[in-house]
Amino acid sequence: MEKRDAIKKLENGEIKMYQLDELFSSSDATDIRREYMEKISKINLENISKYALNMDKASQKNIENPIGTVQIPVGIAGPLKINGKHTEEEFYIPIATSEGALVASINRGCSVITAAGGVNTLIIDDKMTRAPVIRTKSIQESYKIKIWIENNFLKLKEIAETTTKHGKLIKIDPILIAGNYVYPRFNYSTGDSMGMNMVTIATEKVLEFLEEETSGEIISLSGNACVDKKPSNINLIEGRGKSLIADILIPEEIVHSKLKTTAKSIEEVNTIKNLIGSAISGSMGFNAHYANIVAGLFLATGQDIAHVVEGSLGITTAENRNGNLYFSVTLPDLPIATVGGGTSLETATESLKILGCYGSGKVEKLAEIIVGTVLGGELSLMAALSAGHLAKAHKIHGRAN
Ligand code: NAP
Repeated sequence: MEKRDAIKKLENGEIKMYQLDELFSSSDATDIRREYMEKISKINLENISKYALNMDKASQKNIENPIGTVQIPVGIAGPLKINGKHTEEEFYIPIATSEGALVASINRGCSVITAAGGVNTLIIDDKMTRAPVIRTKSIQESYKIKIWIENNFLKLKEIAETTTKHGKLIKIDPILIAGNYVYPRFNYSTGDSMGMNMVTIATEKVLEFLEEETSGEIISLSGNACVDKKPSNINLIEGRGKSLIADILIPEEIVHSKLKTTAKSIEEVNTIKNLIGSAISGSMGFNAHYANIVAGLFLATGQDIAHVVEGSLGITTAENRNGNLYFSVTLPDLPIATVGGGTSLETATESLKILGCYGSGKVEKLAEIIVGTVLGGELSLMAALSAGHLAKAHKIHGRAN
């Protein structure tokens, strides 16, 4: 079939957009869909049409009904010195964003960190979760199923792990109950992949066995206690994906010369803004802007961008230690990958390669780089806010600090 015949058939409703992939190569199907959209909407889509990705490859697992791509500029921050368990190096960090000043601000944070000897990073937990919901006839049945799951853990683990080489079922905990509904939270280690597809497939296999052996009825493979792509207290407390912490002690001289403020002022702004301000507003993110840095790195490196919701959770602490600044960030919920998902899209692969983080055996290193960069971005904004606060205080009180 000729391309123009295909457009006519789309117009007449003789074929659906998704059927084009069966009739043409995916890149030709992409052009036909876009040209059809241009025709019916009378809009020129010449910019969406320009891209470097291999659409034949992308349309196999990353996108349906493609018409092109959107482009987000990528900037570089760094060098950033990381003192972690999985890497002790300096990195240039690719950040994809349309927010002016973000890369400049992260860059300033990186410069402070590197001048102060580097940011210390730690992975404190690592697990991907899936929590189905099971309906029972009564509270007694619900309790029986909870005990059955606990007593049969080793058998369930064996079944789950038949579906994957890299996935390991670590625990099923907590098992939440709401009357006649049971929500067991399956926790897996998923190697270098983010793991949501992996754990979904593995959990589905376990549920087939559960339905055969118990009176429980599976209502949904996800009962929302996972919690995937929603802000939640359970993820904040239990962790999901990589749970990360990072800290640094910045000498007074660097706080003054590079951040143009004082440790005392940053400590004060952190307490009043990030802690009290978040508490009074019921916010789950006790931080200034983790989401900015997480989103920039997620977009650049092909992570699932919807997980920024989870990556925005966390707590910043700041202490004045005799004029020196102690500063830390905690990110309990960062689902990331160096294998699978969007990491194989060509631009994402290149960004991961800038970080030396593409492929198997690299996800812990990527986690440490991300938490280190988050500390840099958070520090820079907190310093800017506290310098502004100090400037205002100077104006009002007419004295130097
Ligand atoms: P994936 O792209 O299927 O990646 C995992 C695959 O890579 C598995 O087949 C795994 O094989 C293989 N693999 C090869 N080397 C590996 C290594 N070193 N470590 C780990 N795995 C390795 O997907 P995923 O990571 O499971 O899930 C990510 C995708 O899920 C994203 O595209 C995301 O958008 C999507 N997602 C899905 C859901 C959902 O509910 N299904 C929800 C949110 C997001 P083995 O399994 O044989 O080990």
